Amino acid sequence: MTIIDPDEASSARSIHDAFFAEACAALGYDDSTTTMLLLASREIRAELPLRRDDGSISVFNAFRVQHHNARGPYKGGLRYHPDLDLNESRGLACLMTLKAALVDVPFGGAKGGIDCDPHALSSTELERLTRAFVGKFHRLLGPNRDIPAPDVGPDAQVMAWINDEYAKLYGYNPAAVTGKPIIVGGSHGRVEATGRGVSIVIDALARLRGEDLNGSRVAIQGFGNVGTHAALGLAALGLTVVAVSNVGSARYAANGFSTAELAAAATEHDRLPEGDTITNAELLALDCDYLIPAAMGGAIHARNAPDVRARVIVEAANSPLTADADALLGARGVTIVPDILANAGGIIVSYFEWVQNLQQVSWTLDQVHDGLRDRLAAATEQVVIRAAHDDTDYRSAAYRIATVKVKDAFFLSGF
Ligand code: NAD
Repeated sequence: MTIIDPDEASSARSIHDAFFAEACAALGYDDSTTTMLLLASREIRAELPLRRDDGSISVFNAFRVQHHNARGPYKGGLRYHPDLDLNESRGLACLMTLKAALVDVPFGGAKGGIDCDPHALSSTELERLTRAFVGKFHRLLGPNRDIPAPDVGPDAQVMAWINDEYAKLYGYNPAAVTGKPIIVGGSHGRVEATGRGVSIVIDALARLRGEDLNGSRVAIQGFGNVGTHAALGLAALGLTVVAVSNVGSARYAANGFSTAELAAAATEHDRLPEGDTITNAELLALDCDYLIPAAMGGAIHARNAPDVRARVIVEAANSPLTADADALLGARGVTIVPDILANAGGIIVSYFEWVQNLQQVSWTLDQVHDGLRDRLAAATEQVVIRAAHDDTDYRSAAYRIATVKVKDAFFLSGF
């Protein structure tokens, strides 16, 4: 099932290209510079035949798009989702380049994965498929080349298999992949980093704007890794989480879910707390202060954007708004916190994990949380200052800050 409306033709690539082109134009870059910055430096597709547990064979497509590495090794998630294709990976890879630049971690951008539904595979099938992925792509991966992380689909177990398969070929080197379980070189605080980061950005923004968050009402689409930890972080800040959803359904509680209810539901994949059952479309149209799309790209488009009543949209997912929806909501005065800022907590703590692995040290949870908060608060402040200076919205400001850094690194390195 996909939430990308086919009529909107809104792959992450087409969504992202529009925003990126606007940033390049605002910065006065000529067409050839814009094209060079937009195009990926490498794109790979491979077929992965999988022997199923019942003896039959299924063939999946695997992708890796390496966008730019002028600021550091390629870095980005692996997505296991039936709708994944090369075009979507292109947009998401470019987004990663900009995200790393915005929050000042020394990585370029990459993205990829497998067009499979991991929940339709047994654990042994998932392991074989993951190891087959490393078999096809390992020459392009590594701690100083391209460092995969989990995105939609894979969890820490998948990252542990990648780590192990890579080690068979190149020796023990946990810095080759992030999002690993702590016991095999993962970092404290990585699992919750992206969702926690969403709450840090909302807090930082409210402080900069002199707003009181206490009692603000929040609706969250997607109650997976990012959505659950965003909900818990926001509840801890005193916000009231009134609705959450998964791919099949949504739950609403007029007076908000308690932290205990949210935490209990979060212990199981895609479990929702008890509450009134509503649809995902109704969740997007709820009367609330903050709407947090934390599922897949293209969730809010030209046809459902008029229904949105939230004051602020925080893009916890990658590219959840189409360019049309962004323009429509922006014109109505809705504040949009862009993905490259809102969900950058994941890449920041992936960077911390990589640093710990390279130095063979282990940070405490407090060190990770403090570092995450400092970097995201600083990036939020930069975006707010740039938006005020350029008299523009937060997305344009964030894209301009990031694009300049990538372009400067690219041209200084030479090509
Ligand atoms: P996940 O697989 O853990 O959770 C996804 C959630 O979205 C699940 O609750 C799923 O049921 C729900 N969902 C899927 N299709 C839906 C639909 N049609 N309607 C409503 N809900 C739907 O994935 P995640 O890791 O939480 O990632 C969510 C988003 O955040 C993705 O866009 C991902 O690219 C982005 N992101 C994730 C990370 C990370 O560290 N995990 C980092 C940056 C960005």
